[in-house]
Amino acid sequence: EFSSVMVRALKMDTSQPSFLADLQYVARTDVGMRRANNQDSHAVLLAEDEQGWLERGHVFMVADGMGAHAAGELASKIAVDNVPHLYRHYRDLSPPDALRRAVVEGNSEIHRRGLANADFRAMGTTASIMVLLPQGVYVGHVGDSRVYRLRGERLDQLTFDHSLQWELRSLGRLSEDSDLARSIPKNVITRSLGPNADVVVDIEGPFPLAIGDTFLLCSDGLTGQVEDDEIGSLLAHLSPQEAAETLVDLANLRGGPDNITVVIAKAAGPGLLANGQIQ
Ligand code: CA
Repeated sequence: EFSSVMVRALKMDTSQPSFLADLQYVARTDVGMRRANNQDSHAVLLAEDEQGWLERGHVFMVADGMGAHAAGELASKIAVDNVPHLYRHYRDLSPPDALRRAVVEGNSEIHRRGLANADFRAMGTTASIMVLLPQGVYVGHVGDSRVYRLRGERLDQLTFDHSLQWELRSLGRLSEDSDLARSIPKNVITRSLGPNADVVVDIEGPFPLAIGDTFLLCSDGLTGQVEDDEIGSLLAHLSPQEAAETLVDLANLRGGPDNITVVIAKAAGPGLLANGQIQ
């Protein structure tokens, strides 16, 4: 009896292609402790076959909506319902070009729907979308949601925050501990999808993969409450599932003033790496 169960378990493992078997991922979203609605949205779109894996990879996305409550929810939902599929759809374009095009089209769709209905006018959302491919990782990004990579014990933020705080700091106009820096609310963002007909999209990458690399996409409901060094330790020492739950719990323990969304993807084995790239 025991051995037949073992055999079945082994067969189940080998029946999955390595680009799926070697991926660990988890997504968690939580309304937090103070808000009545969750305006965050997220998506995970895995490659379905070898060709899809080689050409488009796995897709992960977080979007954080803003506007009167129904508008914020709608904007982030339109973003995650459209951008990953548009990225897959533009097969003639390279992954980074397809990513940029998909985010631009997502912006147009949210903007159009905002103009069409007074209740949704000027609705907006952040958009952070990551594609994991054999040749590495690309990120398309607008707003102040974040993408991090943990490698070993080191955590790097792969995205720029399009917030007033960060933009002024990068221009050298603001020092971190000045009175002015403290007076600017952290949630004022300088770019988002939806409010304007055009949007400037950051494309980052490719970041070549190494076995063990763990990526975190998250909304500011997490990063407003949990520091980078805490995020790094939790990602380094817990499984993706445990880390996701602990990060959400920690943000809530500290007051949970905002919606919290975390998507974690880990390259747990060599099946996600291009041939010859194994490190
Ligand atoms: Ca938020």
